[in-house]
Amino acid sequence: MKLLTIIGARPQFIKASTVSRLIATRDDIQEIIVHTGQHYDSNMSNIFFDELEIPQPDYNLGIGGVGHAAMTGRQLEALEKVMLAEKPDWVLVYGDTNSTLAGALAAVKLHLPVAHVEAGLRSFNRRMPEEINRILTDHASERLFAPTETAMVNLKHEGIPNGRLELVGDVMFDAALFYRKHARRPVWFDSLQLGKEAYILATIHRAENTDNQKLLAAILTGLGDAGKPVILPLHPRTRSQIKRCALSLPSNVHITEAVGYLEMIWLEMNAEMIATDSGGVQKEAYFHAKPCVTLRNETEWVELVDAGWNTLVGTDPVKIGSALRRKNVEHKILYYGDGRAAEKIISRLVKS
Ligand code: UDP
Repeated sequence: MKLLTIIGARPQFIKASTVSRLIATRDDIQEIIVHTGQHYDSNMSNIFFDELEIPQPDYNLGIGGVGHAAMTGRQLEALEKVMLAEKPDWVLVYGDTNSTLAGALAAVKLHLPVAHVEAGLRSFNRRMPEEINRILTDHASERLFAPTETAMVNLKHEGIPNGRLELVGDVMFDAALFYRKHARRPVWFDSLQLGKEAYILATIHRAENTDNQKLLAAILTGLGDAGKPVILPLHPRTRSQIKRCALSLPSNVHITEAVGYLEMIWLEMNAEMIATDSGGVQKEAYFHAKPCVTLRNETEWVELVDAGWNTLVGTDPVKIGSALRRKNVEHKILYYGDGRAAEKIISRLVKS
């Protein structure tokens, strides 16, 4: 079987690493990897290929750093050429980025079957570009690999035939289980001189938060009121917005460059609490048993909120500050599969 994998952004490298590692152990699957170039900084791209031992891409399209329409359009055109040349049996796409949508759309127009990993997630906020990418990708896909029961229900509500759906668990849970033993303390950590002091780990990168100066400033004010140190590895978009808007950082907020995955999971495992607007980081907080405060008004991972692990606070600085000072109480155990999502995805594709 010949599989064409399309990836382009940080969370996709992490998700795909689990599947690609298994494929490498099989003689009956040939994987061709296409990197669209959506993320291109070395700490947003290369570091993941090196650390997670993802095979080097067979194609690097170098299409990133432009607006939604230009990025999706150029990727679509370039991906069609690759697909015509490679003639894969399956096109595999991950998550909810422009690269996901471009891959799914290019393939379905060529009558190539698309498999979507992390299908069925919905925020029900259609102003998020990710939400549009997810919905369109799911409806173009032949095989939809859902991470949760909630995702399965969403897909059924949208009328996608049962025969296309498969509940496999979450590939990010596979990754968390596999890589936690390789978690690495960042070299700069000691220079923060936190001693035994507890810290909060924060990430901010969603366009809805970074593109609005007032909201970004409000989040920083909320983090400033956490009552303890906050470590904030910066996504390039957030860094440039803080600079462009000349936003001042509260004295307890320590910024760093975006870190690699192994350092990120060390920071998650050693934090007291996590504050984020990232989808992946919300779940990783749970995987590493940390309470999470989500800097959004809604989430795709609703079960974490229902179970008490996650609190939605939006961008209100008072809510952020008080949620970060709260001692969390009771939490329910949840399931994101059994750590074998990647294995199930591969065996299902081989059988198709
Ligand atoms: N991540 C990382 N370094 C960082 C910030 C995040 O390796 O500095 C990882 C994080 O552990 C998670 C993934 O990136 O696995 C989440 O990606 P992101 O927040 O960019 O996207 P989302 O999950 O919101 O789609």
